Amino acid sequence: MERTKFILDEKDMPTHWYNIQADLPKPLPPVMHPATGKPITPDDLAPLFPMELIKQEVSTERWIEIPEEVREIYQLWRPTTLFRARRLEKALDTPAKIFYKYEGSSPPGSHKPNTAVAQAYYNKQEGIKRITTETGAGQWGSALSFGCGTFGIECKVYMVAISYHQKPYRRVMMETWGGKCVPSPSPDTKVGREMLAKWPDCPGSLGLAISEAVEDAVSRDDTHYALGSVLNHVLLHQTVIGLEAKQLMEMADVYPDIIVGCIGGGSNFAGLYLPFVKDKIEGKKPNLRIINVEPTSCPTLTKGPYAYDFGDSAGLTPLMKMYTLGHDFIPPPVHAGGLRYHGMAPIICHLYNLGLVEARAEHQLATFEAGITFARTEGIISAPEPNHAIKVVIDEALKCKESGESKTILLAHSGHGHVDMAAYDAYLSGKLSDYAYPKEKVDEALASLPKMPQA
Ligand SMILES: *Cc1c(COP(=O)(O)O)cnc(C)c1O
Repeated sequence: MERTKFILDEKDMPTHWYNIQADLPKPLPPVMHPATGKPITPDDLAPLFPMELIKQEVSTERWIEIPEEVREIYQLWRPTTLFRARRLEKALDTPAKIFYKYEGSSPPGSHKPNTAVAQAYYNKQEGIKRITTETGAGQWGSALSFGCGTFGIECKVYMVAISYHQKPYRRVMMETWGGKCVPSPSPDTKVGREMLAKWPDCPGSLGLAISEAVEDAVSRDDTHYALGSVLNHVLLHQTVIGLEAKQLMEMADVYPDIIVGCIGGGSNFAGLYLPFVKDKIEGKKPNLRIINVEPTSCPTLTKGPYAYDFGDSAGLTPLMKMYTLGHDFIPPPVHAGGLRYHGMAPIICHLYNLGLVEARAEHQLATFEAGITFARTEGIISAPEPNHAIKVVIDEALKCKESGESKTILLAHSGHGHVDMAAYDAYLSGKLSDYAYPKEKVDEALASLPKMPQA
């Protein structure tokens, strides 16, 4: 029997996260204060985040120790398995070798608790009693509720309204782990009330939900805010995925030619590929291809300009240089809620700008078709987000079939779709449609980009 699963011992779980900022060929553009037009200082961020996380955000130390308490909670599901997708390979009749690192075995079913647990820990260390956040598909809200629960911290989640109604079970998961969840826009904040007055049926957006969570956090001393993606410290915590994957690929005696993953804010995929990008930057693997996959309905890297923009729609956050569709952009209601964000992790944008990684956009229907192929071969019913990456993996494997090349493809599989059955139901009953790129809407939103000296 040939090997299908590659598994590490618990004692071989990484003890440190990998910080790409130590190895970037050029440093990241600074994060700017919207009022002063100058780089932000740690004091600007102190009302929102614990100092340890603010330090991690700008650290250039290559290895950052994972606290023992965090590792103990990671042990509930880590290390995660690397699979060889033999049955998918066979179904595609491809000479490609397809591997996937699966993060769906965590309690909330995705990669997100890798950072949720770490963030709850550092907040607890600083005596914080309550954390607010936003959530799109509900994955992050459930992960943070779980993470806060493990350290006895209260958790308040502003959930994008469209997802709140499409995915009620995520709310119940949050409540089961002790969190509180409201649909955003909500009457609990000023920005929420203003939006509801203008547009009572507003489907919400991640940017708007961030505005509400930030407003709530800064209005109380015992409360901090947590972000589930985009920021440098979040990507740092997710590198535990890539560090395990590197050890496991070695165990399988292969190195990837192509790495594929989906990007919303970019954390799961960067978490897998940053330790591999290091090899590319160092010139050890110059031909390694890394493909970031996004939805055509929210084509941040493939269609957006590289510019300073706010992280949220109300303009409360600092300005980050990123590929962006404009902070006013409200993407169409596709089912991959976790990929509906107007911006992108500055680290990914920087690597893309330097030509170290690629990007591709995929239509919703084709991604579900790929997800069904995956479910019928590998068994796992994937979340709509990783289905975007699976679509590209299948395309690349079929190219190998044409060319006869036996490339090694590594997929970042970010989570299962057990709470997304309504989306599969819509697809299987022919009710799902593709969304064309809403060009006028994007032009409108881009017109409101903040005026900045372009660094
Ligand atoms: C949240 C989520 C994503 C998108 O977030 P990233 O920060 O881009 O990783 C992707 N897949 C799943 C399963 C998610 O829950």
